[in-house]
Amino acid sequence: MNQTDIQNLLDEPACDHNTAGKTGCARAKPGATQGGCAFDGAQIAMLPIADAAHIVHGPIGCAGSSWDLRGSLSSGPQLYRMGMTTELSDVDVIMGRGEKKLFHAIHRAVERYKPTAVFVYGTCVPAMQGDDIEAVARDASQRWNIPVIPVDCAGFYGTKSLGNRIAGETLYQRVIGTREPAPVPQGVVPTDVKVHDINLIGEYNIAGEFWRVAPLFDELGLRILCTLSGDARFQEVQTMHRAEVNMVVCSKAMLNVARHLQDDFGTPFFEGSFYGIADTSQALRDIARIIGDPSLIVRTELLILREEAKAQRALEPWRERLTGKRALIFSGGVKSWSIVSALQDLGMDIIATGTEKSTAEDRARILELMGDQARMIDDNDQAALMATCRETQADILIAGGRYLYAALKSKLAFLDINHERDFGYAGYTGLVELAKQLALAVESPIWQRLHQQPAWLQASASSAIAAQAGGV
Ligand code: SF4
Repeated sequence: MNQTDIQNLLDEPACDHNTAGKTGCARAKPGATQGGCAFDGAQIAMLPIADAAHIVHGPIGCAGSSWDLRGSLSSGPQLYRMGMTTELSDVDVIMGRGEKKLFHAIHRAVERYKPTAVFVYGTCVPAMQGDDIEAVARDASQRWNIPVIPVDCAGFYGTKSLGNRIAGETLYQRVIGTREPAPVPQGVVPTDVKVHDINLIGEYNIAGEFWRVAPLFDELGLRILCTLSGDARFQEVQTMHRAEVNMVVCSKAMLNVARHLQDDFGTPFFEGSFYGIADTSQALRDIARIIGDPSLIVRTELLILREEAKAQRALEPWRERLTGKRALIFSGGVKSWSIVSALQDLGMDIIATGTEKSTAEDRARILELMGDQARMIDDNDQAALMATCRETQADILIAGGRYLYAALKSKLAFLDINHERDFGYAGYTGLVELAKQLALAVESPIWQRLHQQPAWLQASASSAIAAQAGGV
């Protein structure tokens, strides 16, 4: 990948800010990869393709430090969770054995695990020593008659977001459009219901949260050809070009896939979220509206009515406990606004939200939801963040796992919202789960205990008062 390719990826035409006088996303600054390098971004975007082998071509640190970090779940094959790496050593580099080791690694993965495809991620070291991963992948593909996809994503190319785009570009150029979808099986929907095919792009099925909304799509007769890439199979990715509409669930990751599908296949796309009642309903409405099937539009409205009423009933006891509680959200990208919407559904006060990794469009959505007074936090300095929590008297910090210990040391309740979390919060039932987890975190008796004076200090304070009283 050369400088022009990287610049083209940064300059995604579908980003709104490209029509507002500014060209391209900001170039990475030194230190920007502390939140993940381009390899990390490409890997997390493609790793949930569960029946493929994912081989990291590089030193052990690249695979070892990133393996299984994302909580994407699969309903079937677990091969994606098998960490595979060529584990290049300094001797391999000196002896020029990189390509040979890679060929051997692909052979071993194919023979032993019988994957549907092999993804090979190029990292910094092979990129600098000039390994021809493309040629190795081509030879291996011919030899074992299986798709072997090279992903040119050396970490020094840029940030995690750029890596997401590299993954999207690779999938679009090499995988999507190489197979036709299977016919809809007979008898799965009533005869008067027409089945429509859709894709969800940037949905990673973290903690199985996509499974909370999947039954709604089934009921409406919407067949998900592919979720790119949560709980995905390689063959599903191949058929994505046949969808009638694409929903981009995470605005930064893989927007380029949606734009390519629109340009080349005429598939419209929109950006949406499944966090919160309002956004979930809006996403379902948007899909029905874009497809334009009158029967689907009516059935969607009826489903929304039923599900919203059910969710409101389930939320009542939690809302009573959470109304007025003050939350500080520190999560970038789409979550910086989609979680705001979900918490507003619960009656909570959002005192600030982190925007370190948010796009101009994400910021506009925050202003829309929180008004002009919205407080946005741009940098990820932990000490400054905890000072803001104290100053604003937050009841809870909602952020990624790396802020857990900073929050606990500050005696502040914490909820993990990033990809390592254990609970799925998408859809109507996901909001009820979110409310439950928030209430459990905020109301934990530990906070009261931690803010009390220790018993020995209480005892010495009482004896001092007694001594003072005696002296008088
Ligand atoms: S690809 Fe490069 S920046 Fe990323 S983990 Fe490996 S060595 Fe580090």
